[in-house]
Amino acid sequence: MKNKGIYVHIPFCVRKCAYCDFLSFPAGDELKKAYTGRLLKEIADGSAVSEGQTVDSIFIGGGTPSVPEAADIVRILEQIKKSCIVTADAEISIEANPGTVTEEKLALYREAGINRISFGAQSFNDDELKLLGRIHRSGDISECFEAARRAGFENINLDLMTGLPGQTKEVWSETLDKAIGLSPEHISVYSLIIEEGTAFYGRYHGADDIRAKGGTQSLLPSEEEERLMVVRGAERLAEAGYAQYEISNYAREGYECRHNLKYWLREDYLGFGLGAASCLGNFRYKNTSDMKEYLEAEDIRKDREYLTAEEELSEAIFLGLRLNLGVDIKELEKEYGADASCYLEWTEKMLDEGLLIKKGENIALSGRGRDLANYVWSGYV
Ligand code: SF4
Repeated sequence: MKNKGIYVHIPFCVRKCAYCDFLSFPAGDELKKAYTGRLLKEIADGSAVSEGQTVDSIFIGGGTPSVPEAADIVRILEQIKKSCIVTADAEISIEANPGTVTEEKLALYREAGINRISFGAQSFNDDELKLLGRIHRSGDISECFEAARRAGFENINLDLMTGLPGQTKEVWSETLDKAIGLSPEHISVYSLIIEEGTAFYGRYHGADDIRAKGGTQSLLPSEEEERLMVVRGAERLAEAGYAQYEISNYAREGYECRHNLKYWLREDYLGFGLGAASCLGNFRYKNTSDMKEYLEAEDIRKDREYLTAEEELSEAIFLGLRLNLGVDIKELEKEYGADASCYLEWTEKMLDEGLLIKKGENIALSGRGRDLANYVWSGYV
């Protein structure tokens, strides 16, 4: 039996960023306490792990898990360790934001066994950070990074963003250089997506259309400009010793995120907390996203579904292709017991167009395929 992963969602943030459509919001102390209590109950009640089953990755994400008191995070981890068999070498990650960690918090995280920390840096340019509505400034990133090192964190990730309004390739290069200068073990690079319901949606939605129609609005980098930033970023990261292992993720050797790999490899994971998703073989469900219901209802599991073998296979190919390693379709066919012949035509076409390449028995996205991933997915059956 393979080890499972556990995800714990902490939805609280100091304030809402202008681009954010994650399940996150500011909250008072009373709600934070009630939430921790419900989370502890959910973990204790949950048939988290069947007898003998082990967990080798825990990811505390958000929101901003560094917003609640560290004591709450410690209690959550203690409960997980009571409910499950956590392996001695488990990767235990927490997401944190600059401006919300203290030396004391970091020390408590380490004492509780957290061995990986992921900082939402996003940019090292203060104007960009302000525009994004982040609570931190560039200097805070270096400060919390150094504090995490002093606390003993030997595995640190920095999240960065491209495609920001007004972002030039020079500003992006500076951000990248400053991130590399801190020498984290892992760097994630995400493209800004203008999501409905965010403050950015009101400001920037349709900016491309306006530009295309000859308007003067050039608030967002064009698709091509952004693509070049991502490509240049990948080259710069490779020069600095960070190998790309997934579309948005780069790591020093041996520091690939074990927990996130479970998502892309379609391995089992359990999610606890508001809106958290779980996937156990062909069964999956998602907790309610309604806080009142989460706190008060007995049964909080929604959207239960059992995937067919064909659906599992399709998902395994789609997710696995995000990894540089790619997928062995024949192996997946055997694993899921579904017929993969319907993918042959698509695979051949993408190989011909140079968007997929062969890596031994595997097929994987080529460099150009990664740049044009949306096109590749659009042709996917
Ligand atoms: S800190 Fe992250 S989760 Fe919180 S509002 Fe900002 S982007 Fe969203």
